[in-house]
Amino acid sequence: MTLHAPIDFRSDTVTQPDEAMRLAMSAAEVADDVIDRDPTMRLLEERAADLLGVDATLWVPSGSMGNLIALTAHLRRGDRFLAPRSAHVLDHELGTAAWLAGGLPHALDWAGPGRPDPDDVRAEAGADGPYYTLRTTLLCLENTHNSAGGTVTPPDEHALLVAAAKDSGLRVHLDGARLWNAAVALGVPPAALTVGVDTVQVCLSKGLGAPVGSLVGGTTTFVEEARRLRKMLGGGVRQGGVLAAAGLVGLDRIDDLAADHANARAFAKGLADLGWVVAEPQTNVVLAAVPDLEVTLTALRHLGVLAGPMAGRVRFVTHRDVDADDVAEALHRIGSVS
Ligand SMILES: *Cc1c(COP(=O)(O)O)cnc(C)c1O
Repeated sequence: MTLHAPIDFRSDTVTQPDEAMRLAMSAAEVADDVIDRDPTMRLLEERAADLLGVDATLWVPSGSMGNLIALTAHLRRGDRFLAPRSAHVLDHELGTAAWLAGGLPHALDWAGPGRPDPDDVRAEAGADGPYYTLRTTLLCLENTHNSAGGTVTPPDEHALLVAAAKDSGLRVHLDGARLWNAAVALGVPPAALTVGVDTVQVCLSKGLGAPVGSLVGGTTTFVEEARRLRKMLGGGVRQGGVLAAAGLVGLDRIDDLAADHANARAFAKGLADLGWVVAEPQTNVVLAAVPDLEVTLTALRHLGVLAGPMAGRVRFVTHRDVDADDVAEALHRIGSVS
């Protein structure tokens, strides 16, 4: 039993739609999106395309479906794809990149946190060979990189990776579940981080606070194909405007992510002051190394501080439903037993 209301740092996915978002959802203009498009969905998809610097986007129920649709569009069965070690598409999508998209995954070591070395991309892409040569056709990037601790790939590093992929004849998919966080942390528009990619996926249901939804974007031709694939996967929704309205409110709140980042820095500093071994957060994720993960997570839970496991460390994620006072209170609770 916990003595206090728990403070929930397990993920930015725990964010609840607030009053303003619920009002926008209830007022949304809607139509059947599967038959001939829903007007609020259309608005969201067009606005997101502008923000991301792509021709078009498609709303999808989850980031995993967005990634799966992109990989399915890019890969033929047996094609190999490259992704940084511990990428979401490798480790957190239940093998769908292989099972459904037909891809053969290959993990690349990190040169910087969460990002591969452009020379490794070139080396692993290989060259054209005889007919029995394994085909490598796609590079998947992840910005921010989740399991590296919400780390950011800046535009210059991104450009080098895209150039390496393109020179080697690879397409590029960007898993930008938290691309908004990367853009805010770097002080650049989101479109500055999608330059050169063929497709991109972004989440509305994490730091932006929507209850559901992601977008997958690229060329108009890709989005036409993506719409078919979404229908095949059972992801076509009818009066989706109710959900898109939440996404539109979320897009108005991108700048608010700076507060989550400040809270993460304050929390990491407070933990370090208490003697914890923590990485300096670049966005809204704080990773702490502890001797025994399960023991620590249980002890935290008893204090009313909820966290989760990530890559063998404790992961705390800040988000719009924990404020600076909650961070201070969490540090107070942890400090009371340190
Ligand atoms: C959360 C996340 C996803 C998938 O989003 P879901 O909506 O949970 O399916 C994909 N990639 C990364 C990096 C994520 O953090």
